[in-house]
Amino acid sequence: MERTFIAIKPDGTNRGLIGEIIARFEKKGYKLVAMKAVKPSKELAETHYDALKEKPFFGPLVEFICSGLVIAMVWEGTGVVKTGRQMIGATNPLESAPGTIRGDLGIDVGRNVIHGSDAVETAEREIGIWFKPEELV
Ligand code: ATP
Ligand code: MG
Repeated sequence: MERTFIAIKPDGTNRGLIGEIIARFEKKGYKLVAMKAVKPSKELAETHYDALKEKPFFGPLVEFICSGLVIAMVWEGTGVVKTGRQMIGATNPLESAPGTIRGDLGIDVGRNVIHGSDAVETAEREIGIWFKPEELV
């Protein structure tokens, strides 16, 4: 069954949005197969966002992800990678549609509440970075 990696970023945890976000995935019908709360190391954040290391915002992005608690999750279900991204909305919350998580809950591209894997292969890679196989149901 298809799986995706979803993470509530430090702004989302600090603003008390954990329950709201988890509820959306639960209500949609997806199954939670792993979850943990972590304050990521710099190494973990850099590995996670490795594809963006040449971007000008890479340093601030890594610093932000390491600044507080991240809720790392694996969700499972039909089409969960693509549908999860649709539920999250566009990267810049000013451009995300109302009804999406970023569209409803954010205004800042650097503080956009949540991460979701962008492809099935990316999801497999990210799940492997954040979780040991025995931590998954
Ligand atoms: P994520 O990978 O976090 O789910 P995404 O896939 O929508 O987001 P990416 O292109 O992978 O977008 O960028 C990763 C993160 O880098 C974004 O979520 C955002 O916080 C930050 N970011 C992207 N573009 C910019 C930008 N132009 N300025 C500042 N931060 C940015
Ligand atoms: Mg991305």
